[in-house]
Amino acid sequence: MAGNANPFESLQSQIDEAATHLDIGDDVLERLKYPERVLETNLSIERDDGSLARFKAFRSQFNGDRGPYKGGIRYHPSVTRDEVKALSGWMVYKCAVVDIPYGGGKGGIVIDPAAYSDSELERVTRAFAAELRPFIGEDRDIPAPDVNTGQREMNWIKDTYELLENTTEPGVITGKALDSGGSEGRVEATGRSTMLTAREAFEYLGTDMEEATVAVQGYGNAGWIAANLLEDLGASIVAVSDSSGAIYAADGLDTRAVKDFKNETGSVSGYVDAEEEFSNDDLLTLDVDLVVPAALENAIDEALARDVEADVIVEAANGPITPKADAVLTDRDVHVFPDILANAGGVTVSYFEWVQNRQRFYWSEERVNDELETVIVDAFDALTDTYEEHDLENFRTAAYVVAIQRVVDAFEESGTFP
Ligand code: NAD
Repeated sequence: MAGNANPFESLQSQIDEAATHLDIGDDVLERLKYPERVLETNLSIERDDGSLARFKAFRSQFNGDRGPYKGGIRYHPSVTRDEVKALSGWMVYKCAVVDIPYGGGKGGIVIDPAAYSDSELERVTRAFAAELRPFIGEDRDIPAPDVNTGQREMNWIKDTYELLENTTEPGVITGKALDSGGSEGRVEATGRSTMLTAREAFEYLGTDMEEATVAVQGYGNAGWIAANLLEDLGASIVAVSDSSGAIYAADGLDTRAVKDFKNETGSVSGYVDAEEEFSNDDLLTLDVDLVVPAALENAIDEALARDVEADVIVEAANGPITPKADAVLTDRDVHVFPDILANAGGVTVSYFEWVQNRQRFYWSEERVNDELETVIVDAFDALTDTYEEHDLENFRTAAYVVAIQRVVDAFEESGTFP
């Protein structure tokens, strides 16, 4: 990854930038830049060899003006309080831009999950769930998966919560396995909203998706599904990558075959039908119509942004472009469609999961995908209307203008207590 911007400072500068286009008092703006509360806790568990291990963990509840706090829990050695705070803030604006009735939250444990056994990870997860119990609930704060967590961890958290509360409340957490109250379409939802955003963007800009060349950085859940669905729209996926490096084929890669290869070997590197292999930075600066960053934060910094050749970037990852890089891309007329819209499919289908849990009535995959398409297309239209109406310099600012206005409206309609 190229840049090392502090993610909390990135979030705050994005809010400041958008606020210059809105009629918001400084006092109200300040409120939007800091979390309402952050839980910091130390989890102790017994390791398999009988010794004790301790882990720092956080849950940030950034803003609840529009509904319960919502956001994932990540397990990573580099989790910090500032990162969790920033990610919880982005969730507020992501939920607002797609107009689902949630605020924003995020959690994390400072842990390298690869260094622990499954039963140790279960004990850490259940210890965290016990600490979180007073703060979460289907009307309070609804966690979800993030980096290095998935259905298994969500099921453990749900089970611990339900045991301690002596209830059944599947909507306390989303991203669960289907048999534990998960939703059809959840696993594909982030890649699907990335594809829908790219499709709408190309239509808006008058570019033909069937003639388009695409490079995708990161071939995990979000990246592979986005690549696959874009290929289904007729685009040519000429390059994809993962942490091992990038592969390229001028006439397009077969995204399913690359996925099978990665499943077998653990990486995309070495894929037999690739014509060339190069670095991730080379992939991000390829002369293609569309780049989809779908790996980690800060993938494109100021220096790399000067070499970007694509006309359009659709952000599947959270925060893949630093604020300085964003300014360079705006100056160079590269159209960036932001993460808070493009990867909002994950939280939108989490919302559908929560709705289904509360109704105890489950939808078909077709219905989930149709409802998701409606949400993303409506959000895209609101964003481009605002972009034109305020004559804004880029689509990210338009997304924040839409989202901040919605949060401020909810706050002002409710008033202040005490
Ligand atoms: P994942 O772990 O499934 O995949 C990540 C991929 O990125 C892997 O292929 C990995 O090899 C690759 N990668 C890691 N470091 C890299 C590097 N330096 N260069 C190139 N590739 C690298 O994760 P995911 O769920 O696909 O998430 C990817 C991004 O999308 C993250 O920023 C995440 O926050 C965001 N996101 C995911 C979801 C979701 O529902 N999965 C929802 C919203 C946002």
